[in-house]
Amino acid sequence: QPLRVGLTGGIGSGKSTVGQMLAALGAVLIDADQISREVTGPGGAAMSAIQSTFGDAYVDASGALDRARMRQLAFSQPEARSQLEAIVHPLVALHSEQRIEQALQAGAGLIVHDIPLLTESGRWARQLDAVVVVDCTEQTQIARVMRRSGLSAEAVQGIIASQATRSARRAVADVVIANEAHCTLQQLQAEVRQVGTLFGL
Ligand code: ATP
Repeated sequence: QPLRVGLTGGIGSGKSTVGQMLAALGAVLIDADQISREVTGPGGAAMSAIQSTFGDAYVDASGALDRARMRQLAFSQPEARSQLEAIVHPLVALHSEQRIEQALQAGAGLIVHDIPLLTESGRWARQLDAVVVVDCTEQTQIARVMRRSGLSAEAVQGIIASQATRSARRAVADVVIANEAHCTLQQLQAEVRQVGTLFGL
């Protein structure tokens, strides 16, 4: 049986970057956000249900979910969001399971689950052998997300306030990867390589 590790961290902590580094070292990465983008991408598994539930207007020319239009709808009709989630979440769960199954058959040694809200959702503990937290200060989170998205500092602070606190996250961690503003990608890579050796990579 491969080790199963949960990877988490606040917005802009560098979680996806660490996940990609672990995958490059040989881990199988299961990223629910990425799978969710795939099933709502061009011709994705959720698209026929999205089309029949919301109409052609929510499918763009490429056959993908029109995210901007769906955001507007969810803003004016909150139940639209739960309808969308009722379509997408079971498909994400199914595709994740299929990927895990493939990894098992291929003899993978380490499966890394990228779970943004791991700390917030209690249901993961039983399934994971260890939790890795990517950690940095709020200032660093704010600077990174502002640079990436153009959101205001206040908007980023609002998102941070809606997530688990830094100390709550660290409390569930078996391993903490420090990814402060002064940390270069090379230094992060070196930390990730060390963590990888803990898990047999
Ligand atoms: P989210 O939860 O918003 O998806 P995340 O925790 O997955 O965020 P990343 O997407 O990995 O964070 O990182 C946020 C941004 O910061 C990215 O543009 C990434 O390239 C950059 N970044 C992260 N860590 C470093 C670092 N040590 N050096 C330089 N850039 C970094």
